[in-house]
Amino acid sequence: MGILVMAIIDGLKPVKVASTKGGEYHSPCPSCGGKDRFIIWTKPNRYYCRQCGKFGDEIQYSRDFHGLSYAEACKKSGAIPKAFLERAHTQEKRSVYRFEPQEAKLPSLQWRRQAGSFTLYCQEQLKKSSPALELFYQRGFSSTSLEQFHLGWNPTSLWLHRNHWGMDPSDKKLWIPKGLVIPTYDTLTGEVIKLKIRRSDWTEGDKLPKYVEVSGSMQKPALYGDWEGKPIIIVESELDAMLLHQFASDLSVSMALGGASKRPDLLTHELLIRAPKVLFSLDVDSAGAKAYQWWRNVYPHIELCLPPVGKSLGDAYEKGVDLRKWIVEAIGL
Ligand SMILES: [Zn+2]
Repeated sequence: MGILVMAIIDGLKPVKVASTKGGEYHSPCPSCGGKDRFIIWTKPNRYYCRQCGKFGDEIQYSRDFHGLSYAEACKKSGAIPKAFLERAHTQEKRSVYRFEPQEAKLPSLQWRRQAGSFTLYCQEQLKKSSPALELFYQRGFSSTSLEQFHLGWNPTSLWLHRNHWGMDPSDKKLWIPKGLVIPTYDTLTGEVIKLKIRRSDWTEGDKLPKYVEVSGSMQKPALYGDWEGKPIIIVESELDAMLLHQFASDLSVSMALGGASKRPDLLTHELLIRAPKVLFSLDVDSAGAKAYQWWRNVYPHIELCLPPVGKSLGDAYEKGVDLRKWIVEAIGL
């Protein structure tokens, strides 16, 4: 039937405001009212309320606003119930991939405290280092974003005793290289749970990675923004995910894996299974392609949506791509 027709039957009187992608219509929200906060896109068949955040497809519309059960809503729309797809998908997963997501372990209190004060120190250092600031600005970061994401600059490579950060002591020191400091915060507690450094002394051919995850960091993808049913865009690097957030936090949430081979933890896994729209935009290289095969098998509903130019979305930005426009097109608005 289509959401537009359903909305008309429901007496919402949608008004056409744009003809891109089959047409965009605005109307009051069936749930929270208003005047034009409820958006309907006819191609793809989706709705989104800018006020209460309700978002979904035709089936979700029947569930949200007509109180139908999932099975009833599917029947009404003539769709294949997700339960069936999920079962097929679970069988495939068990037989082929045996992916059993684990609950991510929170770093110790001492680690979180050390990481927190180190991040504060590096934020101060960033303000004093114009070359480091320039690197962030070049990548498209606004000064508001630098503050918001607590980005910083570590001026000296450090080799620390692991027990200072609450980890088992060993001969191996805790390495925190000189470079741009990219922390991940726990959205609930506001504590640093992961630290990434983009090394400033890295050169092509270096055996050690350009991005170093500080040992003891939490093993879970970083999510930027409140999900609320919005499309999720999965990228490789935290910086790219932050950049997407800067340009389009109202349209999507971005997720950084922090490396092509990283896998989701249990909570992320549950989120991805529920999310109606997940776009996969890892770096365009063999590691990214290999990762896509895995993700596609575990989450059959994800859509491949590679950076339009360059190796990553950060590259694309530097090559002049308007990332907000790219997102609008990628999610089919
Ligand atoms: Zn609403």
